[in-house]
Amino acid sequence: MKKIKLYLDFDGVILDTITVTYQMIEEQELKTRDEIIKFFQTLDWNNLIKTAPIMNDSVNCIRKLIDSNRFNISILTHVNSKGEAEEKIKMINKKFPEISIIPCPKRIDKCDFVNPINSILVDDYLGNLEKWQAKGGISVKFSDKNKQNNKFITITKLDQLLNIDFNMNKEKVYKRV
Ligand SMILES: [Mg+2]
Repeated sequence: MKKIKLYLDFDGVILDTITVTYQMIEEQELKTRDEIIKFFQTLDWNNLIKTAPIMNDSVNCIRKLIDSNRFNISILTHVNSKGEAEEKIKMINKKFPEISIIPCPKRIDKCDFVNPINSILVDDYLGNLEKWQAKGGISVKFSDKNKQNNKFITITKLDQLLNIDFNMNKEKVYKRV
């Protein structure tokens, strides 16, 4: 059977970098758009990756997905700086040497950076999922708190991908949820 191309988001799917950075923004009382842009451009990702909690057992789940041999997996992640890309690449290469990581500049949509057609994107951000599906991709919503979404298949743990039959036609994949 042909392996399905599977793209996994990083922030809010693999590591909980989002909660940690929001806390930092609050503590530093950053308010304006410029302050927040600067914050993300200068953020110490080496330290953040070491301290951010793993989302719902994602590291073990990715290992299971690799071992299942059913997917051709890449990590597709938005980045704000070169340092962020470097640290994410370092972490993924160390933990999962067999999968690739694609850092996508923040200003470019994920669906325009790689070919979404018949490929799965697992992401916590609805904006990415909507555009992905509109361009012919299969969108899966990751929600750590099991907040169901009526538009997309929703999962709380990455190993739940193993229970979904992606080989049926796309209409059915959407309708079954
Ligand atoms: Mg995300």
